Amino acid sequence: MNIKNYINGKFVDPIDDEWIDNFCPGNGEIYGKIPNSSKKDINKAYQAAKKAFPAWSQTTLEQRSRLLIKISELLEDNLQQFAEAESLDNGKPIWLAKAVDIPRAASNFRFFANAITQFASESHESVGQDAINYTLRQPIGVVGCISPWNLPLYLFSWKIAPALAAGNCVVAKPSEVTPMTAFLLAELCMEAGLPKGVLNIVHGLGSTTGQAIVAHPDIKAISFTGGTATGAHIAKIAAPMFKKLSLELGGKNPNIIFADCDYDEMLTTTVRSSFANQGQICLCGSRIFVEASIYEKFKTDFVKKVKQLKVGHPSDPKTKVGALVSKPHLEKVLDYIRIGKEEKGEVLCGGKQVKVKGYEKGYYLKPTVIEVPTDDCRVNQEEIFGPVVTIMPFDTEDEVLKMANKVEYGLSATLWTNDLKRTMRMSKQIQAGIVWVNTWMMRDLRTPFGGVKNSGVGREGGLEALRFFTEAKNVCIKY
Ligand code: NAD
Repeated sequence: MNIKNYINGKFVDPIDDEWIDNFCPGNGEIYGKIPNSSKKDINKAYQAAKKAFPAWSQTTLEQRSRLLIKISELLEDNLQQFAEAESLDNGKPIWLAKAVDIPRAASNFRFFANAITQFASESHESVGQDAINYTLRQPIGVVGCISPWNLPLYLFSWKIAPALAAGNCVVAKPSEVTPMTAFLLAELCMEAGLPKGVLNIVHGLGSTTGQAIVAHPDIKAISFTGGTATGAHIAKIAAPMFKKLSLELGGKNPNIIFADCDYDEMLTTTVRSSFANQGQICLCGSRIFVEASIYEKFKTDFVKKVKQLKVGHPSDPKTKVGALVSKPHLEKVLDYIRIGKEEKGEVLCGGKQVKVKGYEKGYYLKPTVIEVPTDDCRVNQEEIFGPVVTIMPFDTEDEVLKMANKVEYGLSATLWTNDLKRTMRMSKQIQAGIVWVNTWMMRDLRTPFGGVKNSGVGREGGLEALRFFTEAKNVCIKY
């Protein structure tokens, strides 16, 4: 199926008529073409957004909120179609797309539809000066949203919903690897009655289309989720134009397991936090540190459970681990497994490609556990972003804390313990934007979301996202 750009309320071909192939990870075949849009397309989208902005920014909160809720309802009505498209495009098991990704995209619209109606700004009486200050939170104008392939609609909507709710018009680009559900979303926006030009969805490669959004002098804010190297590149382009930037980048998250935890719950959740979505979630716990007294038991139990995970075609309801997103990505992950072995890591399970019957050209890999001899080896330091985790033991809290923090990233961390004092101590000291204790990926959309160090700058979620997509203006009135 070929997809098109959505600009000014219409589906259009790219101006230069350039296209790229879209591959299906489940069978490795080309199943459509997508536009590789140029600066001209981005400018066309910008012009449409600029024209739509005055009217859109003047809509009442209720009007905006209703529209976003309508989009959310339409997504729910079309759950099956969207889940199929997401699974086909990304390789994730269809049950996962149906249970998590698409419902979460619907929740994003609903959440920000409601949040905008509660978005208050502060006022300060300047006592003794007969003056009052209040803060206006005004939409920025035309903003750019760029999202990755791992949670396609989930992360795309996580940006555009707050941007629209705050009264901005948007030029958005989903990943060229997984464009399908963003394309389908455009149809729902039309059906919901979103005015033309308010949301423009332009497809193409990062180096052409994405970069054209970042480099466009009049797109004043960029919300980006993707790799750390891309984030750094974007920051360099945006800095001389003083653009507002939100960068949600890579992670290499520690999963720290103490002997006093609830063992069974920890074990089940750790399998999930390691391999959900083929390990392609920025929040996956890819470095597992286990207290020495339970290390051998954990190793045996964990590997046994991981070996039971069924690798299969994304459409098979029994599949637990689907296909990796692309051939180059599969090759990158296999390369890291090779590096892990060279570094004297022991592959305890997995480590190999899987041929799924009937889909031999698909990008399947066995979930892989590597026991590493030291924490500073490359497989323990660099983001692999696939179904590969490292494990190693630790003796003391201080030791594990040092190892947990000794990476360039700081997105999330998971801590398994029933010791309250240790929880409080470690939560403060772990260098991460999110710390989960005795759980993983439990999300409340009101909470701030983002990373420290090379995992990014800025926060998404709740009021943080609405703050990002508005400019604060102080008005001081002397009376
Ligand atoms: P990527 O950086 O290659 O691409 C992300 C998006 O940026 C895509 O739409 C891509 O086309 C675009 N892009 C690429 N080069 C660009 C450029 N020069 N200018 C503008 N846009 C450009 O990342 P990816 O491979 O799609 O996604 C995987 C990465 O995303 C991982 O590192 C993962 O950790 C990270 N991620 C982070 C979070 C988070 O919330 N922190 C969430 C999901 C994924």
